[in-house]
Amino acid sequence: MRLLIIGPQGAGKGTQADRLAAWIGVPHISTGDLFRANISGGTELGKRVQQYLDSGALVPDEVTQDMLVDRFGQSDAAAGFLLDGFPRNLGQAEWLEGELDSEGTPIDVVVLLNAPDEVLMERMLSRGRPDDTPEAIARRLEIYHTETTPLIEYYGAKVVAVDGVGEIDEVQARIRTAIDERVAEHGNA
Ligand code: AMP
Repeated sequence: MRLLIIGPQGAGKGTQADRLAAWIGVPHISTGDLFRANISGGTELGKRVQQYLDSGALVPDEVTQDMLVDRFGQSDAAAGFLLDGFPRNLGQAEWLEGELDSEGTPIDVVVLLNAPDEVLMERMLSRGRPDDTPEAIARRLEIYHTETTPLIEYYGAKVVAVDGVGEIDEVQARIRTAIDERVAEHGNA
């Protein structure tokens, strides 16, 4: 099964995606986590992308896409994955569709996780990530609204919207129920 999780920063995507991926039995692939691991590991890729992460700007598509092609090629991703942080705009979504269609393995479900702005801000300020400066937070939020939200329409009927407000377990249960219902209706598994 191939899934995406989309939502504004602070909606709890990373935490929920970890649990959801374990439940489904697929790897959780987070482009932000992959970049951060490269930065802390001091790799060439890490050096190339650090400035973008620091400012909250998007890393150039080619760099991100090359990294994903590598990741998709690892054996644990053969049967599926849960992608978190990608695509972030229509161009990336179209690229992804092309990649997956050529393999005959389209995205099955898109989980849209959302929460009101005050909850998002409170969670972001408490997670303490090095790229959570006020400027980077504002930049990412702006990009989310202008570039990422059009993906909701792009994925249309594949989207299941889940309320991200509540305890971690409660939100996770909502996501699983929504996916079960969607699979029962459309038979995507
Ligand atoms: P995230 O952990 O998803 O908040 O991502 C942190 C940062 O990684 C972003 O602010 C971007 O600089 C970079 N990044 C993550 N995913 C992408 C993507 N799909 N395209 C471009 N840059 C990305």
